[in-house]
Amino acid sequence: MFEKMEARVALCKCKEGKRTYGIRFERMGERWKYTWAFPVKEAAAKRENYDQTKIVGGIEPDKDYPGCPFCKAMAFVICQCGKLSCYNGDDSNFICNWCGFNGRLEGYKGSGFGSGGDI
Ligand SMILES: [Zn+2]
Ligand SMILES: [Zn+2]
Repeated sequence: MFEKMEARVALCKCKEGKRTYGIRFERMGERWKYTWAFPVKEAAAKRENYDQTKIVGGIEPDKDYPGCPFCKAMAFVICQCGKLSCYNGDDSNFICNWCGFNGRLEGYKGSGFGSGGDI
């Protein structure tokens, strides 16, 4: 109860109009729970250093997580570039809204995309 709560915000880009929003993560031991999402301008996000955030460990949604404020997607994908993009769950291909990376979602286990090198 008296433990100081550690919370961070990660930026996510929605594919609808390429708008950005922040996702708030709260630390729950070794894991992070994402609890809230709110629209944020990209310039403001830079000022707040949201793009410097690094979250390591498993993540899971809070039961009250509202989803993307624009397209209502409840899920997002973490790209190899380290940024988040909306994912609405009905496409096995994913295109990063930040760097344009295009790949398949299969095999992603939450530890991040590999950096390649052994084709
Ligand atoms: Zn969205
Ligand atoms: Zn990317």
